Amino acid sequence: MSAATERFDVVIVGGGLVGTPLACALGELGLAVALVEAALPPPLTADAPMETRVSAIAPASEHWLRTLGIWPRMPAGRLCPYRRMRVWDQGGEIDFDAALVPTTHLGTIVENRLIQQAALATLTDHAGVRLLAPQRARRLAWQRDRALVTLADGSVLETALVVAADGADSEIRAMAGVPTFGHGYDQIAIMALIETERPHQHTAWQRFLPDGPLAFLPLADGRCAIVWSCTTAVARSYLEVPDAVFLQALTDSSERRLGAVLACGPRVSFPLRWMHAARYAGERVALVGDAAHLIHPLAGQGVNLGYQDAIALVEAIRLGRSQGRDPGEDWVLGRYQRLRRADNLLTAASMDGFKYLFGNVNPVLSGLRNAGLGGMDRLGWVKRAIVRQAMGLAADPSRT
Ligand SMILES: Cc1cc2nc3c(=O)[nH]c(=O)nc-3n(C[C@H](O)[C@H](O)[C@H](O)COP(=O)(O)OP(=O)(O)OC[C@H]3O[C@@H](n4cnc5c(N)ncnc54)[C@H](O)[C@@H]3O)c2cc1C
Repeated sequence: MSAATERFDVVIVGGGLVGTPLACALGELGLAVALVEAALPPPLTADAPMETRVSAIAPASEHWLRTLGIWPRMPAGRLCPYRRMRVWDQGGEIDFDAALVPTTHLGTIVENRLIQQAALATLTDHAGVRLLAPQRARRLAWQRDRALVTLADGSVLETALVVAADGADSEIRAMAGVPTFGHGYDQIAIMALIETERPHQHTAWQRFLPDGPLAFLPLADGRCAIVWSCTTAVARSYLEVPDAVFLQALTDSSERRLGAVLACGPRVSFPLRWMHAARYAGERVALVGDAAHLIHPLAGQGVNLGYQDAIALVEAIRLGRSQGRDPGEDWVLGRYQRLRRADNLLTAASMDGFKYLFGNVNPVLSGLRNAGLGGMDRLGWVKRAIVRQAMGLAADPSRT
């Protein structure tokens, strides 16, 4: 072993939205953990302008982040819980209310950077967790019952388990030889912060247009974040048009539900694709978050699924340890994969189905869809089931 080799129980590659809370959770188990992150975000002060990248965080994810001590580190004044969701298209409408479940809120809109920053701050509560940043994982090798991660500075981390939390283009996944399958959507999502004539009423608004869904997500400062998924050609033109043209397009496409759209911050874009890893585990490697699955953002589930992955992996490791197993043993990884892969595939497939159904101009399909939305709106138990699923209440990581 060279002088620069250090030993850890778990090495997490990727200190993003999923990898950083996972490091905190493994730190709570008393494990020696290295978290390797290539690019730390600049600090976000409490009075800094709001970030354009926000996520809808489900109550189940909020609960987990609370138990880890991460949620209380985020300034409450920057978080926006929402109580209702209004979803409509040209023929039907469905209204989800927190009172249905009943609960106080259906989710919370949070800036991505805020979650990552609060999670990074929480790492210091765990003596066993080391943050190595900015630092890149470059190579992965195996030696007997250990994995070896070589970093960009040449140092080597020896570990029982490597967690790939390095996002959709995961290099660790490729180095572990795990193939993926999927397809492009020929869609780009545009995100921006906007001001509207009328208040958002702590409601998440989503209209399904033939081109793709347009969402207005409520923000704590009274503005909304938009996520507008359009075909690539249309999105490119919306990214280039002057503000006034874009504002008018938003006003028209939202059917003035919040009145006119008055102002808009910088527009940022994300090409959309569907991707799923053929396995969630390789030799002494586990995949979590976007490294394992990439889904359409229409239901705001991506990072929430990533948190369910992290919860399940921690649970599998905890159970394995209670039986004297190390975190990278096949038994642990097999259990983790059984807990998560089928659930995630089902969610991903339903997002694909929704995207197809709502993007289809075939009159039979649009008739069915509209009958479905109107009918669903009258069926309290169906709406309750959908809301519970979206809130993450259906997930149970203790299941085998
Ligand atoms: C338009 C849009 C809207 C969305 N809205 C929602 C929403 O409302 N709700 C929701 O739940 N999800 C949403 N998502 C999905 C969500 O953003 C992702 O699921 C989430 O960011 C994935 O987090 P992650 O930590 O797995 O990956 P990432 O956030 O991609 O983090 C990966 C990290 O790994 C680091 N890294 C990469 N390679 C290396 C390496 N070799 N060495 C060291 N570090 C490395 C990167 O620097 C990065 O910090 C949305 C996505 C899009 C595109």
